Amino acid sequence: MLGIGAGNPIRVQSMTTTDTMNTIATVEQSIRMIEAGCELVRITAPSINEAKNLELIRKELHARGYFTPLVADIHFTPNAAEWAARIVEKVRVNPGNYADKKKFENIDYSDAGYQAELDRIRDRFTPLVKICKEYGTAMRIGTNHGSLSDRILSRYGDTPLGMVESALEFLRICEDNNYFNIVLSMKSSNPQVMVQAYRLLISKMREENMNYPLHLGVTEAGEGEDGRIKSATGIGTLLEDGIGDTIRVSLTEDPEFEIPVAKMLVDRYTHRNTDQKPIPPVDSIAALPYSPFEYHRRTVKVVENIGEHQVPRVVADFSHKENITASTLFPVGYNYSVKLDKWNLSDQACDYIYTKNKILDFEIPGTLGIIVDANFLQENNVRERHYPFFNSYEQFLQSNFSKEINFIRLDIEELLSIKNSFSRDDLKNVVFVFESDNVHGMVEIRRMFIELMYDKNASDVPVIIKRNYTSLSNQELQIHASTDAGALLLDGFGDGVWINTDGKNSENTINALCFGILQASRTRISKTEYISCPSCGRTLFDLQDTTAKIRSRTDHLKGIKIGIMGCIVNGPGEMADADYGYVGTGPGKITLYKGQTVVKRNVPEERAVDALIELIRENGDWVELKSPSEVFE
Ligand code: SF4
Repeated sequence: MLGIGAGNPIRVQSMTTTDTMNTIATVEQSIRMIEAGCELVRITAPSINEAKNLELIRKELHARGYFTPLVADIHFTPNAAEWAARIVEKVRVNPGNYADKKKFENIDYSDAGYQAELDRIRDRFTPLVKICKEYGTAMRIGTNHGSLSDRILSRYGDTPLGMVESALEFLRICEDNNYFNIVLSMKSSNPQVMVQAYRLLISKMREENMNYPLHLGVTEAGEGEDGRIKSATGIGTLLEDGIGDTIRVSLTEDPEFEIPVAKMLVDRYTHRNTDQKPIPPVDSIAALPYSPFEYHRRTVKVVENIGEHQVPRVVADFSHKENITASTLFPVGYNYSVKLDKWNLSDQACDYIYTKNKILDFEIPGTLGIIVDANFLQENNVRERHYPFFNSYEQFLQSNFSKEINFIRLDIEELLSIKNSFSRDDLKNVVFVFESDNVHGMVEIRRMFIELMYDKNASDVPVIIKRNYTSLSNQELQIHASTDAGALLLDGFGDGVWINTDGKNSENTINALCFGILQASRTRISKTEYISCPSCGRTLFDLQDTTAKIRSRTDHLKGIKIGIMGCIVNGPGEMADADYGYVGTGPGKITLYKGQTVVKRNVPEERAVDALIELIRENGDWVELKSPSEVFE
């Protein structure tokens, strides 16, 4: 038996993408997942036939010596759930569609009408609860932001509260039947919504004396770097607070590739030991100065282009560079044409570079600021757009500071020692750089933000989040930094991000990572967003290949969200807030959406990507991709 929750390790799981009726393909893919470290294998059961076939899959796995628990994934089909619950260890139901069909209707329920609906759900759902109880089968009540029922949407809207209530309605039915073998999830493709929903779920469960294990995941996270950053931002934020008992990283890649990413996320907490530098003791907080259930950016003043309504800024750390020339800026989003003597900026051009002790003696791009150690800057002739970096508040007070921006490094010890002694006049042109090398760095920096918010003179000073990492591979850096900075940004903290490594990760990698974290936390959009499902046994086309094709034609469309979904059953709901949708409707057939509206039905697959581009053009969202020579014209 595999325990989830309580003192058990955080379990790693994934889902097959094969046709469930293809027993051998499903068994072999499950084995690849298990060998990679998957501790629960989820398999879709869209109808009773697939539910029955789970028995053959299970037998074959056992015959080959694999006893990993199986989970049947159910949408819309209670009869398949009831069958599967007699075969596999766990059944996942989606409360948004277990007993409801989506018609996208807004219904004005009276209390009696709403109760009548709950009674109908109780009648539909109770048989499954009884079977699970009888067979000792576990259940996940898995809410998805994109597939809330019309009933929930009508009463609670498209909100974290709606997601929570959707699960609680089913959970109460389980408890009324004395069935408690339950895990809950609150997934969304938007990490902000996902994090808020899990927190709210815990708060609501506490009110009702409930305490069930949680399965964490960001749905439709996409592929490659974007998918990893988005998953780490959502899942990592919650794991940092000790929330989460099992996780699934959903990538549009073969499921065995999800496992190392999930393990990397989990291992960080398994190996986080107590003999490293502990968090300095701080008084407990009577009340939070912000809501963890909704997003509000911390109110700050503007200092040059940092803070207030400005997008969070990206600082590239060039302190390890021996020489900085024009070409050093190429990997951080700047191109220079010698012929035209002109800089061109990409959408992911960093805003500042930290040189430590170098003054740039070439014509720098007009939007770029240079941060230099204050001592060095004062000893040299200060050039335009070079700003001092003070190593402490005390050093700043003893210096001639800049009339434009002064960056001041603070750690928690210094902040705690000087809080409530700041003067507003001194802080006029100040941006703090919060830094932590604590093993619980995210929590420590969050505490610094809280302390700052309570300080009447300093509460509106903009803050750059700075993290230092050593000896991390690019993938580890993605996971760690997305968690550490993403968790703060999701709560509205941070007016910039500064990631420093020991030189093992290229400037290009770190710069793309900073912009990826800002995009995942939805605080600065600099590229196209793809909301693509991981695919499963319902998928009717090659999702990975199609996603790659769509990405290659559209990845210059900054700010557009494109949903790429494997099936019509769940796809339209799951891509929730996409601007355009590409959804499989039958073998070789694709239906295209503008928002939630069907625009072109059953387009032959070979013409569907072109048709999607046409649709984007017709709606005025298309821009031509410039060739390298045009960039400078
Ligand atoms: S949207 Fe994708 S992952 Fe979800 S059920 Fe359909 S094919 Fe499977």
